[in-house]
Amino acid sequence: MAWKKRAAGDGKTVQYTTIKVRLYPTEAQAELFENTFGCCRYIWNHMLADQQRFYLETDQHFIPTPAKYKKEAPFLKEVDNQALIQEHNKLSQAFRVFFKSPEAFGYPRFKKKKTDRDSFTACNHVFESGPTIYTTRDGIRMTKAGIVKARFSRRAEAWWSLRRVTVEKTKSGKYFCSILYEREVKTPEPVAPAPETTLGLKYSVGHFYVADNGDMADPPRWLKQSQEKLAKLQQRLNRMRPGSRNYQEAVRKYREIHEHIANQRRDFIHKESSRIANGWDAVCMRADALDEMARSASRGNAFKSGYGAFRECLRYKLARQGKQLLVVNRYELTTRTCSACGFVQSSASYRRRTWSCPKCGAAHNREVNAARNIKAQGLAQIAACA
Ligand SMILES: [Zn+2]
Repeated sequence: MAWKKRAAGDGKTVQYTTIKVRLYPTEAQAELFENTFGCCRYIWNHMLADQQRFYLETDQHFIPTPAKYKKEAPFLKEVDNQALIQEHNKLSQAFRVFFKSPEAFGYPRFKKKKTDRDSFTACNHVFESGPTIYTTRDGIRMTKAGIVKARFSRRAEAWWSLRRVTVEKTKSGKYFCSILYEREVKTPEPVAPAPETTLGLKYSVGHFYVADNGDMADPPRWLKQSQEKLAKLQQRLNRMRPGSRNYQEAVRKYREIHEHIANQRRDFIHKESSRIANGWDAVCMRADALDEMARSASRGNAFKSGYGAFRECLRYKLARQGKQLLVVNRYELTTRTCSACGFVQSSASYRRRTWSCPKCGAAHNREVNAARNIKAQGLAQIAACA
């Protein structure tokens, strides 16, 4: 990202935390945000076009700085210059990753008002007179905008330092601000996992996850209800005439529910991952391919799409405490193998919700059995490394 990863002192680690808050800008502030979104797109597109022209003419990669455009586009001076500098940093970064692995990242694209997210980022600068960005009791002070009213669901500790903010507007017209904090903490002592303090988790369509001890995260009912609402609205939309007032109203409603579901899911993922990371010394999970998850997400299974995010949350929440996430190979036969004796089922009976092992007679719940195997494989990995 824009700022360099700072090296921490001896025995210290730098950690980052983001706090997302809802913003309630005044009319004038909303207009300023709107202009800033537009200016960011403008500067991005012009820098990209110039980079391309320059590359064609000279075979050199070069991106002009935002200052160059201010004469021909004086409206750029009306918005926070930091936001424009950030666009330069983001574009430079987009090229850096593109040059490094073109197939993975693709060539940087031009931004369109219709399809691209309305957002801008600004870094905090601390001068003798104080920081340029800071939070107040019920707002955030930003350059140009002044104090923007905000609702905080949680607050930063006094010793965290505010690095930057990203303001975005959702499709339904709400404003949010992600505040990134940096904090220096003592490097945690590594925690060696023991079988009794390690948890094995298996992804489950019905329960989100099932653990090797039989625990499950029952998907909250409200999430299912919102999803049903969304499906109904989608059907109604399909029958409506695009462009009509009713249609537009339904689209607005659809986007609102969509955002609501995303928020509910994020909340759920954070709470579950914190609970597990605090309660266990290590967690074993399977390395499910992310594109598979994306495919199930497009089939409307909102939970599977959240599982990858859940795993990443667990990873960093464990790491903060010196604990490990043990990811096991997804091709291991976790569902077919009897977790009691290691016998591998050849018949399809392991697909049933419950089955008993033909060799040792152990009765298994399919998902719990798989979670047990995932845990055993995870623990075997660290035993192999020790
Ligand atoms: Zn068995």
